[in-house]
Amino acid sequence: MKSSWTFICDLDEVFHDCGVAALVDDKQIAIFRVGDQVYALDNYDPNSEANVLARGLLGDINGEPVVASPVYKQHFSLISGRCIEDPDQSVLAYPARVQEGRIWVRSTPIRAAQRTRRLVVIGNGMAGMKVVEDLLQIAPTAYEVTVFGAEPHPNYNRILLSPVLAGEKTVQDIVLNSFEWYREKGVKLYVDDPIVAIDRRRRTVTAKSGTVVNYDRLLLATGSNPIVLPVPGKDLPGVVTFRDLQDVDAMLEAARTHKKAVVIGGGLLGLEAAHGLLKQGMDVTVVHLLDTLMERQLDRAAASMLKESLEKRGLKFLMPAKTVEIVGGPSPAASLATSPARGEVRQERASDFATTLSPDSPLPQGEGQGEGAAAERVRAVRFDDGSEIEADLVVMAAGIRPNVELAKSAGLRCDRGVLVNDTMQTFDPSIYAVGECVQHRNSTYGLIAPLFEQANVCATHLAEFGIGRYTGSLISTQLKVTGIDLFSAGDFLGGPTSEALVLRDAKRGIYKRIVIEKNRVRGAVLYGDVKDGPWYFELMTQGQDIGPLRDKLLFGSAFVK
Ligand SMILES: Cc1cc2nc3c(=O)[nH]c(=O)nc-3n(C[C@H](O)[C@H](O)[C@H](O)COP(=O)(O)OP(=O)(O)OC[C@H]3O[C@@H](n4cnc5c(N)ncnc54)[C@H](O)[C@@H]3O)c2cc1C
Repeated sequence: MKSSWTFICDLDEVFHDCGVAALVDDKQIAIFRVGDQVYALDNYDPNSEANVLARGLLGDINGEPVVASPVYKQHFSLISGRCIEDPDQSVLAYPARVQEGRIWVRSTPIRAAQRTRRLVVIGNGMAGMKVVEDLLQIAPTAYEVTVFGAEPHPNYNRILLSPVLAGEKTVQDIVLNSFEWYREKGVKLYVDDPIVAIDRRRRTVTAKSGTVVNYDRLLLATGSNPIVLPVPGKDLPGVVTFRDLQDVDAMLEAARTHKKAVVIGGGLLGLEAAHGLLKQGMDVTVVHLLDTLMERQLDRAAASMLKESLEKRGLKFLMPAKTVEIVGGPSPAASLATSPARGEVRQERASDFATTLSPDSPLPQGEGQGEGAAAERVRAVRFDDGSEIEADLVVMAAGIRPNVELAKSAGLRCDRGVLVNDTMQTFDPSIYAVGECVQHRNSTYGLIAPLFEQANVCATHLAEFGIGRYTGSLISTQLKVTGIDLFSAGDFLGGPTSEALVLRDAKRGIYKRIVIEKNRVRGAVLYGDVKDGPWYFELMTQGQDIGPLRDKLLFGSAFVK
């Protein structure tokens, strides 16, 4: 039943921007005057467990009038009673009005204070959105979710950029969550609008556009930045990295109008970029600092089989070679603009995709747009021995670095990545972090499987089902070059206390190396026949005693079952 209005005092008896306490129907209610407007909240502050709110300081946070508790300084919305720092500590708000200069209050609360908390996600990529997906599954109403993405796209499968570049998939094929999905799930999405500042005291984030949003919980999922070699000429038109759709767009544009590509980096990304550009008709040379490819995943034997196989497809290699300069020159006319010499692959542009899916977002500036005039462009790559090779596209695929600048600027503890505990919480308990931007137990990860494990643990903690713990991951890798089967996991090189079982069948192009220590699989490299990769990986992660299987281990799971 609604209570009746109770007269408190004349408006003039309350100082501007101050509060008074009154007993209304046996409840202590704090009444605040802001200009000629009045608000009423519980006087009891649950944080300090005392009737003190009427003595709090008045102000506003992003336009919302608030009172700061005089004891612990938590802020309460004068409109809803919501505690900005911790919604669980919210107080009740009451109807209050001024009539003919007199203040009236009713003791029936306006409504229960807003308990739905606000989760803001920085980074609309694979790890951040996996947290959102898992959270919506297990606690769909726990949060109002807002996502900020620096890219102009909805969430897409970054792993599949390589098949898009190679013309094996379209951009539409790789969308994970369409704009419609966000609308249906009630997730507010800002694209093309990176967060530029986090105010941890006020619990707000500020986007480049100036938008400011409050959070109760914040999730950092800012991924990595590609490493750009600090050599002269690195900023020349025609020099790109391989990280996002915009990069793919730039490479496809270059493949339409230019001929010679140099990929710096003979790791997984570099080889996938090189393969894609080859399929787009370019003449591609891979430049690698070491004399063996994918040294983090392959031993020498597998690496040389891989190189041979890629050479047969038309890739060229220059290794070991240390790049010291990207040399510029007048942009050659776009003489090869019309027809790829090899592969005859055509691909739509990522920016077409952004136009289709995000009509509100400005188009990304694809590299190569507006070129063709006499502008300077990359012409060659120079090495430390003084030699040069021609290049009108250079792809830097020399590794990645966790993107921690924003976290650092907010005063969060960072080392190589943002430091998190086993619940994916940073040193600020209201801020979580997942994905490539994270450093957990001294490890950073650049593959999706561990990041999804992190995301799942993080979601359960955000949902307050805090049961899971992330304790680190063993990883396995495959190369996405059609027709080349390669698998690598764990410690594939081994050490003085391990032994290696090796099978090599050069004629069939098959190579297997299983590293064993104390009757446990520690690592594996497979080339040519990878169907048993998941089985070896399972033996490895489960630490299974392979003593009884040892003599048949190399032949695969079919032989031991
Ligand atoms: C070409 C390519 C091929 C790959 N192939 C494989 C593979 O075969 N297997 C595998 O396991 N892994 C692969 N990976 C790695 C895998 O894609 C990544 O590990 C994964 O995408 C990382 O997820 P993330 O959410 O941490 O980062 P991302 O997916 O990079 O997402 C981070 C997002 O945050 C945005 N962002 C950054 N700063 C801000 C800010 N201040 N405000 C708002 N948004 C911001 C970024 O723009 C980005 O969209 C590949 C990666 C690439 C580039």
